[in-house]
Amino acid sequence: MRSPICLLESQISGAPFNVAPEKARRLEQLRDDHKIDFAIVDEPLFGVRVRLEANRQTPEIVLPIASLEYLWALSHHCWVLTQEYAEAQRAGAEQFDCSGNQRLRESAHILQWATGTGTESWPQSGPRPRGDSDSCDDSAVATELFLCAIAWISHHEIAHVVLQHPLINTVFSEQEEREADEHATKWLLDGLPQSDPKLKKRALGLAVAVLCLQSLEVDTVPCLRNTHPAAHDRIFKNTAIYQVGNDEVIEAICTVVLQYLFYSTGIVANVDGASFLEILGDLLLDISRK
Ligand SMILES: [Zn+2]
Repeated sequence: MRSPICLLESQISGAPFNVAPEKARRLEQLRDDHKIDFAIVDEPLFGVRVRLEANRQTPEIVLPIASLEYLWALSHHCWVLTQEYAEAQRAGAEQFDCSGNQRLRESAHILQWATGTGTESWPQSGPRPRGDSDSCDDSAVATELFLCAIAWISHHEIAHVVLQHPLINTVFSEQEEREADEHATKWLLDGLPQSDPKLKKRALGLAVAVLCLQSLEVDTVPCLRNTHPAAHDRIFKNTAIYQVGNDEVIEAICTVVLQYLFYSTGIVANVDGASFLEILGDLLLDISRK
């Protein structure tokens, strides 16, 4: 098998439907009306996108294996990092060591591998996606987060089709990108009450998706950016629309993971803020000024 991520093949193509089962029928209708297809392809690097299929000239959402591997590894790391960070905080630790134990090291190792060329096979040891789901270890949680995240990313691409953005061009305008983000976020979160645990899960998946996009931009020179809105702005816009629960879990995961991503650039969160929302707001502002 090319990659253990392929064990999740049917769950990946089913993700945009299953993420919000109450809207699955509506999506089937949109898929049939617009003749949208999904294709998992063996390509390196991060390049989830929508294109016109060469022969049929119908929209095709392209999901490269290396992109899926990277998103899974990042989902794993977002989860492990946030859990360990919270644990350290509860224990009253002054400092947090990102590689302080085996759980963190293994997770970081997989992410580091997935950040490579995308052509090498999955490491023999350490966490990996599995087809079965009868355990509830970190890898099982990572798979759940990953499926929500790929659902959001797929809905972003579906939105380009549904909103009739021209698929001929290889780049969309910033306005079109914002519209696609909004469409995807609404698809996942609209219509659920604030206290619904489903809302929290989907919002976590959304957070991982935008953090994934941000992680690809940490070292990017602003003028070389594509037309996607700056990632920190996407994080803010897509997580701030909905109030999720009242324990600030989304703000917490974004704060922890962004600190990790930007550590090497010298950006440090001011953790003395009154709430995670305030800390995250300050952090995103610092990133925007970088
Ligand atoms: Zn787009």
